[in-house]
Amino acid sequence: MNRQGAPSTLLERLAARLGHAHVLTEPGDMAGSLVETRGLYKGSALGVVRPADVEEVAFVVRECAAAGVAIVPQGGNTGLVGGGVPYGGLVLSTVRLERIRALDRVNATMTVEAGCILQNIRAAASEADLLFPLSLPSEGSCRIGGNLATNAGGANVLRYGNARDLVLGLEVVLADGRIWNGLSGLRKDNTGYDLKNLFIGSEGTLGVITAAVLKLFPKPKTRAVGFVGCASVRAALDLFARLRQSDGDTLAAFEYIPRFGIEMVLKHGRAVTRPLAGEHHSYALLELSSPDPHAELRVRLEAVLGAALEDGLIEDATIGASESQNEALWRLRESLSEVQGFEGGSIKHDVSVPVSSVAAFIEEASAACEAAMPGIRVCAFGHVGDGNIHFNLSQPVGMDKQAYLAEWRRFNDIVHSIVARLHGSISAEHGIGLMKRDELPHYKDPVALDLMRTLKRALDPQNIMNPGKVIALGDDAPAALPMAKRA
Ligand SMILES: Cc1cc2nc3c(=O)[nH]c(=O)nc-3n(C[C@H](O)[C@H](O)[C@H](O)COP(=O)(O)OP(=O)(O)OC[C@H]3O[C@@H](n4cnc5c(N)ncnc54)[C@H](O)[C@@H]3O)c2cc1C
Repeated sequence: MNRQGAPSTLLERLAARLGHAHVLTEPGDMAGSLVETRGLYKGSALGVVRPADVEEVAFVVRECAAAGVAIVPQGGNTGLVGGGVPYGGLVLSTVRLERIRALDRVNATMTVEAGCILQNIRAAASEADLLFPLSLPSEGSCRIGGNLATNAGGANVLRYGNARDLVLGLEVVLADGRIWNGLSGLRKDNTGYDLKNLFIGSEGTLGVITAAVLKLFPKPKTRAVGFVGCASVRAALDLFARLRQSDGDTLAAFEYIPRFGIEMVLKHGRAVTRPLAGEHHSYALLELSSPDPHAELRVRLEAVLGAALEDGLIEDATIGASESQNEALWRLRESLSEVQGFEGGSIKHDVSVPVSSVAAFIEEASAACEAAMPGIRVCAFGHVGDGNIHFNLSQPVGMDKQAYLAEWRRFNDIVHSIVARLHGSISAEHGIGLMKRDELPHYKDPVALDLMRTLKRALDPQNIMNPGKVIALGDDAPAALPMAKRA
């Protein structure tokens, strides 16, 4: 306090406006906000602030700008690239921005605040007999502001697109504390630059997303879920092409799982059962869905898979006979992220290539990694219908975990150079954050990088918005952690 009794330090001024309960400075209270979900990154902060509305967010940002203090926006802190971890400055948590401001059934839109948990948004849409299609394994804890800031993907991208495709308007607090009200619900608006798409995918480096107008869709009333076994990745991709051609957008998901992935799930997963009697090189999970409650999707899927069996494209198949069987089939896919931890260290890559190159990528990258370290176990799985492969590498059995993880950079180079040759991306859906920041200049077009830096400097001239993430601008940027230090 100064002599007039007015708060003098930044934290005092913030506490006077937000309330002391929402300016956390005790180590125990801040702990969960300082570490990345898998423990790969750990940082520090002056405090964690929890504004309750957009005006309070703007106040926090204005005060930080005046004091030259960095701000790291944080939602559910489920990000996988270290983007939400602070290295000094303040964490601006969106947990109290939790209101659904409006739901317009005719316009099929929902206006939500950034801190709404994804699962709650999906439930609110469902109650209105509509669908918000973004769906991730972390949906019980991630928040829509984080989903938009990372342009999240998930299992429904095939039909509905990434988070970016599901937004009509945004409200953003800029780095100088001004509020941009871009909460448009328009599906057509050609009045200049598409500003919302600057902030979507910017990982908190350009401003704080405080609210969004989301697109809603007819709620599916019927679905058929199939699980197939086939002899190769190429056969699975040929089945995908066939289904896409015959069933168009009724095909809602097409997920690839290798034999090693299924083996891990059956060994370590909870409430899972073997889907097919025999063993196969490759597996695919696919879903047809429709808003028509009378659509005969199961019959349709039986016909397509029956023909694929006759043609020798697939080796075996099953179709869920009830909703609980459908869920059991999906559980096999959803358990994959979790079970890899039981097999020791896992070096992960979230990459994409054109769908036509997915089989070539998996074959080539698997061979290169197996040659580089005999005994390494490739688990390449994911949303292959979008060309997105989670190319994960489990350590050889019996190898020391730390020694294995110290090889992270070497395997990044092997995998990402093949991705680049096939005209792919080193980050399909998780973002750049800290993890891939120093690799980005090797793979991104230099003109694109220059434009990114120009935008960052224009929108955040003091470099206070999540500094050092995505692109490094100055000496003050925290370095991406050396892989050897990762546990
Ligand atoms: C088990 C598991 C499964 C996952 N599966 C998927 C998947 O299938 N697909 C996928 O895409 N991702 C997946 N993820 C990653 C993660 O869930 C997503 O990136 C999610 O969208 C992050 O949301 P969040 O609220 O947790 O964001 P956070 O982790 O809090 O933040 C992520 C980034 O966004 C910034 N940010 C957060 N909120 C805002 C805001 N309001 N304004 C501006 N910037 C902000 C942060 O600074 C940070 O850079 C998974 C994560 C886990 C743990």
